[in-house]
Amino acid sequence: MKCFKCKGDMRQDYTTFVTDTGDSCIVVRHVPCLQCDTCGEIAYSGEVTENLEKIVKAAKQALTEVAVVKYPDAVA
Ligand SMILES: [Zn+2]
Repeated sequence: MKCFKCKGDMRQDYTTFVTDTGDSCIVVRHVPCLQCDTCGEIAYSGEVTENLEKIVKAAKQALTEVAVVKYPDAVA
C-alpha cells in the first residue's frame, strides 16, 4: 500500500489511538496500522476502524475520565 499523502511505502506497524470525546479521554494501545516510512502518516484498515468505533462506544459508556484499552484484548 502507498501513502495517500506522499506516495511513500506504508508498512505494518502498531500505534496508540487516542481520542477525546469531551467527557472522557480514550486511549487504545497496540492498534495495528499502516505507517508511512517517509512522512509518518498512519492509516487503519476498514476492520480496525470499525473495531475502534466499537471500543470507543463501549469505553464512553463506562463513564470514566480516562479509559485505557488494549486493542488485542478488546477485539478478542
Ligand atoms: Zn507518506
